[in-house]
Amino acid sequence: MKNDRLILVSNDDGIFSNGIKALAEVASEFGEVAVVAPDRQQSAVGHSITINEPLRAVPFKLESGLMGSAINGTPADCIKLAHDQLLDRKPDLVLSGINHGSNAGINIIYSGTVSAATEGTILGYPSIAVSCVEFGEDADLTGCMEAARRAISFVFKNGLPAGITLNVNAPAGPFRGIKWTKQADTRYTDEFEPRVDPHNRPYYWITGRLEILDQGEDLDVNVLNTGYASITPIQYDLTAYRVFKEMSKIDI
Ligand code: MN
Repeated sequence: MKNDRLILVSNDDGIFSNGIKALAEVASEFGEVAVVAPDRQQSAVGHSITINEPLRAVPFKLESGLMGSAINGTPADCIKLAHDQLLDRKPDLVLSGINHGSNAGINIIYSGTVSAATEGTILGYPSIAVSCVEFGEDADLTGCMEAARRAISFVFKNGLPAGITLNVNAPAGPFRGIKWTKQADTRYTDEFEPRVDPHNRPYYWITGRLEILDQGEDLDVNVLNTGYASITPIQYDLTAYRVFKEMSKIDI
């Protein structure tokens, strides 16, 4: 069974990141691994796709042993191209990560990591995004790898409903457990740092602080703050079912 499985692995930090190597390692415990990932840093590109330039898939093999196809495109491009052109059979699972930086709360919207997994879901594959809360490239990914392992085991045992992606986040360091969570309502404040260039022209660096707008022990950001890993079922169907019934009663 294990050897029959094909697992597609991508990310948004590019093929040289430690995170994708760690995730490919975990994936290899469950089946054959195909890495199709951006050839450069693509964080915070969200679900963008490349439409005005050709995409190229360049085979690579790194000193670390990681090998696959490097794409001059976005994370969503990688999954679409792998599905349509590069893989010789359908993957049983799509994994994205391990991202260097949290994809909890509103980060989900901006995330290239989550979008690669979402694209997998759109194409009909069970898909999981995995992120480490600590941004640093040298973060200890042990706990994130175990969280990924748990999520992958869950999916192979239970399957995933159509249209649902799993979003996994974990703190750096050892694994302390994983909890089901909801996406916290958050937003960034104090977003830009204004500076002046040598020609006296202003420029701006995006920075920002994550503000938590709701409360609850089952929110992704709060569970992560207690040291646990977080797993959230998310969906790309953006219809607001919460208000649809009431709103659609009103004549327009
Ligand atoms: Mn990233």
